[in-house]
Amino acid sequence: MIPHNLPTLGAEEQGAAIRVLQRNWVAQGPEVEAFENELCRFLNIPDGHAVAVSSGSAALYLALWALEGKKKRIGLPVYSCAALRNAVGLVDGIPVYLDCGEESPNINTDDAGKAGIDILIAPSMFGIPVCMPETMNVKVIEDIAQSLGAMVSGERIGLRGEVGICSFYATKLITTGGQGGAVISKNKVLIDKIKDYREFDCRDDSKLRFNFQMTDMQAAIGRVQLKRLPEFLEKREQLFEIYSSAGIELLEPSTPSHIPVRYRAVVRCSEPMVLIKRLSENGIRAIIPLERWELLDNPHDYSNAEMFSWTSISLPVYPELSPLDAKNIGTIIKESL
Ligand SMILES: *Cc1c(COP(=O)(O)O)cnc(C)c1O
Repeated sequence: MIPHNLPTLGAEEQGAAIRVLQRNWVAQGPEVEAFENELCRFLNIPDGHAVAVSSGSAALYLALWALEGKKKRIGLPVYSCAALRNAVGLVDGIPVYLDCGEESPNINTDDAGKAGIDILIAPSMFGIPVCMPETMNVKVIEDIAQSLGAMVSGERIGLRGEVGICSFYATKLITTGGQGGAVISKNKVLIDKIKDYREFDCRDDSKLRFNFQMTDMQAAIGRVQLKRLPEFLEKREQLFEIYSSAGIELLEPSTPSHIPVRYRAVVRCSEPMVLIKRLSENGIRAIIPLERWELLDNPHDYSNAEMFSWTSISLPVYPELSPLDAKNIGTIIKESL
């Protein structure tokens, strides 16, 4: 069976992990700091402006905590990952759910301005950058868990709000060995506040903190993956291109100044289950990227998100999928649509 998604892990990642084991320093240490700074360079911010943590969920929680989200109205899309709802709950914020666009899996940030929100979590779903005005009257957490490397007006996204968050879970664009995340910001004060929260041990005050640390083992794998990210993105682009040239219409950004990454190759169609079954009979696994039951609030009240959950299918587009397999998938889809 051709899976829907797979991480790309090879000899270099193995070597990095072995070197950490041989060094006999596996907890948070020099690898984590190096990974943080390499992430900063990738995103074109000064060293020291990233905090590596244990997951994207932890990063979201820390971002909300640093922005003092407790009892605040926090906007979040209904069409997104449960991690967003969990983080809002954990920080004790008041969730305000927002619908996605009719043609876009992302929220319309103008709606957020109108909904009396204090803080907005704005993910760029499927690798497609969310549209964001130059100035917003709410504090924004940019969630690039699915869009590391995507660009808007020539700059990598993630820093258009107060804070950005990344996820390095196994199935994301890169992984730090299964779990991991990071908080990024142009604002060093926020970053240092979050670092202090993560450094929970051996502190002489009684402030509450929490162990959200990444290990050197994870960071060493992450450093290799980050170095390989451009290669991964290029491979994904080629596969996406194969689908497009087969005549399949995939979800794309609505403006040419937005350069996506191909985290998901999503087709809109009236009967996704028929297509999923047809592919499955041919040994190929495709999925509904977000099922109706996965929406973060009652689907009835969010017609665009509900429609997306009924009419979308996500095709394999991971870097190790062979171009030949992608061609075959393209042919099957084209014949079935
Ligand atoms: C995966 C994901 C997260 C959560 O990251 P974890 O590392 O799995 O906790 C948050 N936001 C979005 C948009 C995601 O896709």
